[in-house]
Amino acid sequence: MKNKICVLGSTGSIGTQTLEVARKFKTKITALAANKNITLLENQIREFKPFFAAVYDENLAKKLKEKVKDTNTKILSGIEGLCEVASLSSTEIVVTAVSGMIGLRPTLCAINTKKDIALANKETLVVGGDLVLNEAKKNGVNILPVDSEHSAIFQCLQSCKDKKDLKKLILTASGGPFFGKTKDELKNVTIKDALNHPNWKMGAKITIDSATMMNKGLEIIEAMHLFDTSLDKIDVIVHPQSIIHSMVEYVDGCILAQMGIPSMKAPIAYALTYPHRKNSGVKPLDFTKYPSLSFHKPDNETFEAMKICRKAASLGGTATTILNAANEEAVNLFLKEKIKFLEITELVKKALESFKINKISSLEDILETDKKTREFISKQI
Ligand code: NDP
Ligand code: MG
Repeated sequence: MKNKICVLGSTGSIGTQTLEVARKFKTKITALAANKNITLLENQIREFKPFFAAVYDENLAKKLKEKVKDTNTKILSGIEGLCEVASLSSTEIVVTAVSGMIGLRPTLCAINTKKDIALANKETLVVGGDLVLNEAKKNGVNILPVDSEHSAIFQCLQSCKDKKDLKKLILTASGGPFFGKTKDELKNVTIKDALNHPNWKMGAKITIDSATMMNKGLEIIEAMHLFDTSLDKIDVIVHPQSIIHSMVEYVDGCILAQMGIPSMKAPIAYALTYPHRKNSGVKPLDFTKYPSLSFHKPDNETFEAMKICRKAASLGGTATTILNAANEEAVNLFLKEKIKFLEITELVKKALESFKINKISSLEDILETDKKTREFISKQI
């Protein structure tokens, strides 16, 4: 059990649920970080009394500093502030729950200062999977999945003694708010429709990703890196009830599934207590409330995002950085009502077709590709 936790993205959906778990476990919070929500961050500082807090927005960091000057929490700002709070010597594990690839640098800082990572921030692995995992290996740190599917697979792999015994990883997908719809029906969907996820209450970016199915595509790439598995051994099945959080198929035909009610507190708690378990307050599954669980093939023609992600992952190098940056920008444009829903995936496809794919030799290659791709997308409208 890790007792000293830093939470990056503490004001978001995963961040606040992590703090609920920490409250229950009575764990020490060493540091917090957010982007703009200094009202909630101030409350968190007063309750959890971290040594440090970082606010990405410089002006809001100054405001927060003034507000909490009666406390002992030191306020930092910008990406340097995030990196500094991720590197504190008093921290044992860093929960990476910021949204987007902005989490990459702080995650690398945490790894290089030998903290275990409870990873929610999947974009970091999508853009920098090889880099992050190499650094983790070099520094002897664990990357513990928080994403519910990956936590499920990680749990189902605990009894796997030999990788040769593995046949496939099966990621479940709820299908999102538009499951069963045709492309024609998706042409004019609104932001409100797309944000209306049937099973999960999450931040806006991942909720839109779930509606386009880009989230599942990003999760395929995340699984490829986390479990060092080839793409052809990663399947996706739509399971609208989100009770089975994912599965592992072994060569003898046996399939292990991890089940529970849809709650992110369970995977968060497992990442913090691994290899042990502790009651995080998640209600056990009452099977009689779910008399039927259903499973469907994903519709890869209507929702092309998964195909695009597999393609980018097989190209390797900067392809997944282009994919991610284009998607982050396109989702932003959709949320600002500048583009239509189906254009999100179209823009990602266009970006991938427009850039030469290069090898990644350093963090700078990733940051440079990310910047150029974002500029490209903003020029498209
Ligand atoms: P939210 O939008 O709810 O929260 C994002 C958090 O990141 C907020 O605390 C936000 O701060 C902070 N943040 C954003 N940008 C910056 C920045 N530049 N610097 C510092 N902090 C920043 O997102 P979620 O919690 O839903 O998702 C977080 C991550 O977890 C994503 O990568 C997502 O894919 C992953 N994930 C989420 C799941 C969920 O159930 N929510 C499930 C599985 C994975 P502020 O509030 O100030 O803007
Ligand atoms: Mg997930």
